Amino acid sequence: MRITADTAVCIGAGQCVLSAPALFDQDDAGTVVLLNGQPAADSLEAVREAAYLCPSRAITYTETSQP
Ligand code: SF4
Repeated sequence: MRITADTAVCIGAGQCVLSAPALFDQDDAGTVVLLNGQPAADSLEAVREAAYLCPSRAITYTETSQP
């Protein structure tokens, strides 16, 4: 799985951090910080939730594991 977090559209709502604190953090301005862009497959549900809940659609992911 690959995750991207678009800091240009993030509005700092923090839903991603609540959904998957092991994968997302926020900087001092509240902007998303991606902690792990290629997490294990067992993180899929948390990533789906984070992407679904993000109000600015800043989080995208692919489920395929490509090098
Ligand atoms: S949920 Fe979306 S808008 Fe909120 S901090 Fe995370 S990436 Fe940014």
